[in-house]
Amino acid sequence: MSSLAWRCVARAASRSRALSSRSLCTSSSACNSLTAKGNPVITTHPSIKGKSDDERWQQERYVEEADVVIVGGGPSGMATAIRIKQLDESLRVCVVEKASEVGAHIVSGACLEPRALNELIPDWKERNAPLKTPVESDSFYLLTETSAIPMPILPGMPLHNHGNYIVRLGHFVKWLGEQAEELGVEIWPGVAASEVLFHEDGSVKGSSGDVLI
Ligand SMILES: Cc1cc2nc3c(=O)[nH]c(=O)nc-3n(C[C@H](O)[C@H](O)[C@H](O)COP(=O)(O)OP(=O)(O)OC[C@H]3O[C@@H](n4cnc5c(N)ncnc54)[C@H](O)[C@@H]3O)c2cc1C
Repeated sequence: MSSLAWRCVARAASRSRALSSRSLCTSSSACNSLTAKGNPVITTHPSIKGKSDDERWQQERYVEEADVVIVGGGPSGMATAIRIKQLDESLRVCVVEKASEVGAHIVSGACLEPRALNELIPDWKERNAPLKTPVESDSFYLLTETSAIPMPILPGMPLHNHGNYIVRLGHFVKWLGEQAEELGVEIWPGVAASEVLFHEDGSVKGSSGDVLI
């Protein structure tokens, strides 16, 4: 597996505080430019306000190297991290997650079909996975103005959910994160990957991220 370098911007707390106060526009220099409608430009997002002329971004960046860097600790990112570690525990696998903690930006409830989970972590029940509510019945109605007509749901139809579980996905992802960490995956919450970094030949080298302390 090719080695990816991962760069992220780390700042001392005092510097970050200065940055956040600027982004809130309490410092006059950040408010000097105006939008087309005459409002102050208060965003510091690099797509709106380039960093190339900003001397605060010219400093040397803190660099971390890992074998695999996964951006986003959702179900797919966590499952990928777990699988890679299962295949080769010597690899350094890192997951960067923009939420303050794993699962905090996962808002969906879900009906979870556990086939992939059975393959990834066969003993998930013993590991106390938060799959506690099995589907026991399905009801599907065609609603008219005056009545609800029950429709049959037969095995094999997409709406046939027997064997699946009703979950809060945020809880499930948090649990997946714990399983990943047990395997040695490093999870970096509070880090938003903001830019893809490339090798000179055009292949992906890693990503940069802003660490907001
Ligand atoms: C309302 C709703 C209901 C759903 N119901 C079901 C259902 O019943 N059954 C079902 O199977 N599926 C359901 N889904 C779909 C399911 O939620 C998604 O398929 C699944 O969450 C996708 O997983 P993912 O890991 O690819 O992405 P996500 O779950 O979106 O996770 C992405 C993660 O990456 C993080 N991230 C994003 N950008 C960055 C960045 N730049 N840097 C760092 N971190 C970043 C996010 O914070 C997040 O934690 C539903 C989805 C929604 C919205």
